[in-house]
Amino acid sequence: MLALGYISTSKTQLIGTGTKRRITMSVTARPHANIVGSGPNGLTAAAMLARAGWHVRVYERNDAVGGAAASADVFGDGSIVDMGAAAHPFGVASPVFRHLGLEERGLEWLHSEYPMAHPFEDGPAAILQRDIRKTARSLGIDSTAWRLIHRGVVNSIDDYLEQIMRPLLRFPNRPVKMAQFGMLGSAPSSWFVRTAFREEAARALFTGSAAHANTPLGHPFTSTFGVLFSALGMTRGWPVIKGGTGALVNALTEVIREYDGEVFTNHEVTDLDALPPARATVLDITPSQALVMRGKQLRELPEHTVQRFQRWRYGPGVYKVDWQLDGPVPWADSRVSHATTVHVGGRAAEIRLAEAQVNAGRIPDRPFVMVVQPQVADPSRAPEGSHILWTYTHVPHGYKPATKDRDYVADVIQAQIERYAPGFGSKIRAKKVWDPAALEEWNPNLVGGDIAGGAMTGLQSLLRGGLTLEPYRMGVDGLYICSAATPPGAGVHGMPGAWAAHAVIADQRY
Ligand SMILES: Cc1cc2nc3c(=O)[nH]c(=O)nc-3n(C[C@H](O)[C@H](O)[C@H](O)COP(=O)(O)OP(=O)(O)OC[C@H]3O[C@@H](n4cnc5c(N)ncnc54)[C@H](O)[C@@H]3O)c2cc1C
Repeated sequence: MLALGYISTSKTQLIGTGTKRRITMSVTARPHANIVGSGPNGLTAAAMLARAGWHVRVYERNDAVGGAAASADVFGDGSIVDMGAAAHPFGVASPVFRHLGLEERGLEWLHSEYPMAHPFEDGPAAILQRDIRKTARSLGIDSTAWRLIHRGVVNSIDDYLEQIMRPLLRFPNRPVKMAQFGMLGSAPSSWFVRTAFREEAARALFTGSAAHANTPLGHPFTSTFGVLFSALGMTRGWPVIKGGTGALVNALTEVIREYDGEVFTNHEVTDLDALPPARATVLDITPSQALVMRGKQLRELPEHTVQRFQRWRYGPGVYKVDWQLDGPVPWADSRVSHATTVHVGGRAAEIRLAEAQVNAGRIPDRPFVMVVQPQVADPSRAPEGSHILWTYTHVPHGYKPATKDRDYVADVIQAQIERYAPGFGSKIRAKKVWDPAALEEWNPNLVGGDIAGGAMTGLQSLLRGGLTLEPYRMGVDGLYICSAATPPGAGVHGMPGAWAAHAVIADQRY
């Protein structure tokens, strides 16, 4: 069981002990907190504060809560499409989701037989299994190398998660393990796979995970993503959520409401002074959005925060396509039909080229495509006879297709899937396309289509929030930030929200 670092410290006793505790104080006697934005981090911060006795008000600009963790019926036929996050290697491992008792509020993680598959045109797919030995065994000549590389992290996954799901600029509880992990992960993935593995299967399997860095794979630290995503898959799996990721959002909202918290939708905040007075305001937005917001507290931001926020860089965008199919994807290797997540991109060198092209401002002819087929684990996602397929690919930051070419990237994604699933095109009934502008219009945290809340390059990939020991405190009394731009970064795990709530409570004892 993961030791909850933030719960075991004396300060965090204030957050609650995990037992259900109704607040008996009247709402007016309790300290108030305003939360701006209802992504998983805003909702987690709100839930943690509510449980600790705060009266929370959450403000969301959209008509539904959840940010990039929401689900919706985009095809209008009763199917459930994940608008943002769909696969949850970090969510299932999140200490704060467990602490909040979301599983008692309807959250159910559903696993497929294989967490992830990586198909090839000219041979069997590489398969990540929830077992390091089985995964390694299937990788032939690279079996030993695969095991040696991942064994340490897999065997002590809880210890690693405890270190990784917190701000890195703190002295680690397990310095030796972190130093070992740092050495392993600091290498560029492209160099690492060439050096460590001899065959394509292991190289590509690792590279597909590393490509979640959404940065050129020749960059330092990209191996971190390869090791971590693979290790999570081999231990916790990459589950989907029963009924869609929105079920997690509903469970978080239920916690907030249980403790008399209020959630306001269709309420865009542009001026903090227009919100009711509060002892703490927590922003679930990214630095560039905070810099254009109005309000007395923002006018008083210290120089170092302004500089840190101005230096914050955003990464490449994402182009998402949701497909409505009249049957499952006809993968050439039938085992791929047993994996919820599929990395479509072929050989390691092809993925490397595609990611380099994106970063050079080009749409690759053969892009790396993230595919989730949720019904493999959750048949409830679509009516009988209908299949939902969730895909995205990386595109240059802010990429805008010309009107006549609006579907160009969708066509490239389709062609890429066809390479590994001949006949895919004949299954398509409808598709919904989200280019970076459409994503940002829906959720302004997705700046230029960047789904990580900021680029994962250089130090920014490790030091979310920038170079500071106080990533959640904005340097003005009562003002905090908790989005994916703060540690430990992107993904639906709620930990930035949990740590921001921790900072609020530590500062505002009452
Ligand atoms: C297409 C896509 C695919 C993804 N896939 C995965 C995946 O498979 N697995 C995974 O773990 N993660 C995935 N992610 C990343 C994950 O969804 C994000 O890291 C996570 O949602 C970030 O949470 P957040 O709370 O920081 O912000 P968000 O989820 O972005 O929420 C921010 C919220 O704030 C609201 N808001 C913004 N400005 C204002 C304002 N001024 N006033 C009021 N409200 C405001 C927005 O409308 C939004 O609801 C994906 C993201 C996207 C977009």
